[in-house]
Amino acid sequence: MTSDKVKRHNERMKRHKEVVDNKIEQANIEQGIVLVITGNGKGKTTSALGTLLRSLGHGQTCVLAQFIKGQWECGETNFFANINKKSSQSGKLTTFTMETGFTWNTQDFEKDKQAAEAIWKEILSFFSDSSCHLIVLDELTYMFKYKYLDIKEVITAIQNRPSHQNIIITGRGAAQELIEIADTVSEIKAIKHAFNQGIKAQEGIEW
Ligand code: ATP
Ligand code: MG
Repeated sequence: MTSDKVKRHNERMKRHKEVVDNKIEQANIEQGIVLVITGNGKGKTTSALGTLLRSLGHGQTCVLAQFIKGQWECGETNFFANINKKSSQSGKLTTFTMETGFTWNTQDFEKDKQAAEAIWKEILSFFSDSSCHLIVLDELTYMFKYKYLDIKEVITAIQNRPSHQNIIITGRGAAQELIEIADTVSEIKAIKHAFNQGIKAQEGIEW
């Protein structure tokens, strides 16, 4: 790079740093957030799991509730089952999975609704537990789309939670009501997916 270009680059970086520093200084509200990860691209659940790992790494107490039963035994389920047995150093994780009912293959409205309500009942107390730092509600968006859960009831629980508690919601087509109560919303856009080129689902990547 010519010295002129180096000088311009350094000036741009300095201005950028000032803008970032300014934003950091202004962000001084201490509270938990609601994070919604939606969209048609791959990476919603795995993003939530990455954040869960981050939170556990800080020794925080977390809940993972999976609202759709996967077709296969998931790598993360195996992993968490093992760390729960062994670990005392990582934070505490409690997991819940919709054991019966909804899969992509078999759909029976009454059974699915009961299964959704059962898992919701099981996790409800964590929304008033101030020792719980993070609740991941994986694939929750479909529970409203199919009318298995009452969105108002879920939103009320989220809004009345302890102020430092974080919530992550994943799933396609997040309802407008969820987007409105969220602090951070990311939409993952599908640009390409191996599946559409006929490549088989990969163990360790897809499940
Ligand atoms: P992941 O669990 O890999 O983060 P996701 O949560 O974003 O994916 P879901 O809609 O929950 O996506 O679907 C889960 C499964 O479907 C994964 O095996 C994923 O690879 C696959 N999948 C996600 N998006 C697409 C897509 N656009 N086309 C085909 N398959 C997809
Ligand atoms: Mg998912």
